[in-house]
Amino acid sequence: MKYLENLRKNDKELQNKIETLLEKYQSYPVGSGYIDIITKYELSEKLIEEISNAGIAINAVTWWCHCSDENKKNHGCPHGMGGPKCTCCDGYYSEVGLDYETFEIAESEYNNLQTGVVTKDEIHSINQAVWNYIREYSYHERFSECLTPALWLHVPDEWKRIKYMKR
Ligand SMILES: [Zn+2]
Repeated sequence: MKYLENLRKNDKELQNKIETLLEKYQSYPVGSGYIDIITKYELSEKLIEEISNAGIAINAVTWWCHCSDENKKNHGCPHGMGGPKCTCCDGYYSEVGLDYETFEIAESEYNNLQTGVVTKDEIHSINQAVWNYIREYSYHERFSECLTPALWLHVPDEWKRIKYMKR
């Protein structure tokens, strides 16, 4: 069965599974769906692993700053234009925007997710590349310890969250 067709067929089950994981890893989804899922850097590897096991691919990563007094003090965080309040402290998340790069999977992989049949192994390999990017970017000269990744899940466009931080 085609990737998106399978997701649509099992929508309630998969959405529940995804949202249980988002809650478990204290992720902060910015909108009402499954893109821009801000996740603490140190929890993102495990979340990606579990998302892979659930059979869901990740197609992009953007960077956000976790603006907190602690990060300002310890890492000299220069960001902070305001944004959604985080759930862990009295800080908030701020989009760092075009100063930082974003990551997207290859166009051929994207198109295959849109229209093709995708094996479990292919999903694991796509998501592994996403994690490799996140890990490698932490060695980039522009990386700052206050940065945290946001994951974009490849799910049907019409999907809205059904329980976790529902808006
Ligand atoms: Zn910052």
